[in-house]
Amino acid sequence: MGEDVDGSRTPDGGDVLRAVGPASGHRQTPGELAAFKGFAECIDCMLCYAACPQLDVAPDFLGPAVVATARRWDEDSRDAGELDRADVLDTELGAWPCIQIGACTQVCPKGVDPARALRDAQRVATDTWDARERRRTT
Ligand code: SF4
Repeated sequence: MGEDVDGSRTPDGGDVLRAVGPASGHRQTPGELAAFKGFAECIDCMLCYAACPQLDVAPDFLGPAVVATARRWDEDSRDAGELDRADVLDTELGAWPCIQIGACTQVCPKGVDPARALRDAQRVATDTWDARERRRTT
């Protein structure tokens, strides 16, 4: 048994698995968890890639599951990397090849809704453009 950051006891292996840092920094409300939980259900089965016709047009498109994972972290209240990820997603092969056909969401066995992730990533890319430009020039 080891001691966790909040003083509770954990089974052997807890030294590897326990949260790092102050326990209060990792607590979330049910609403905060719900904001990203759907995207966190991805099992990397890649069915969404098989279904996406845009990968025929742009084979190096980041694709549905990658963007869903990026959005999983964007929506996590403990994370502060949205602008960094937006720099990657707001590129020719980032989120923009998606034209919202929705096949990825239809085939996803976990209900991740990667089409929503792509739509949200495109919106965030637009909404954060000014902030990212200011960051680049200061
Ligand atoms: S189909 Fe769903 S579970 Fe499978 S890789 Fe794509 S987003 Fe993840």
